[in-house]
Amino acid sequence: MRISDVVKRKGDTVITVRSDASVTALLDLLSEHRIGAVVVSDDGRSVDGIVSERDIVRHLQKVGAAVLDQPVSSIMTSEVQTCRPEDELAELEHTMTENRFRHVPVVVDGQLRAIVSIGDVVKHRMTDLQAERDQLTAYIQQ
Ligand code: AMP
Repeated sequence: MRISDVVKRKGDTVITVRSDASVTALLDLLSEHRIGAVVVSDDGRSVDGIVSERDIVRHLQKVGAAVLDQPVSSIMTSEVQTCRPEDELAELEHTMTENRFRHVPVVVDGQLRAIVSIGDVVKHRMTDLQAERDQLTAYIQQ
């Protein structure tokens, strides 16, 4: 299975935030869309960074409530690991597990196309396992 198969099923909506937006505005986005991470992009197409709820928690612990007024750029991760639609889902699972992050933007020619989360990966894995189980059951019952 490829990343493009996941995107076909889940859709290509990606919530982005500008790097100069405040952490409070970021919290609003996470809450409004019920998501755990947002791609940082000043033009809505390039990937300038990624910021997740974990970054907020880590900085809250370090600097306290003052972080809420700081810009997203002060807490984001700038070195973003991305994937391409043609990549294998199994590769992405490996990347997420090895690097301990749960979100990977899908990029084509430097342009943001979609985002895949660990939840999407698990959902697909479960669908695959269920289909395999159904096939084996049908085979045994023949
Ligand atoms: P997450 O597990 O996605 O909530 O993110 C955990 C940490 O990894 C946070 O510091 C994120 O900013 C960072 N992170 C999340 N996704 C990526 C990614 N695709 N590339 C690099 N860092 C990431």
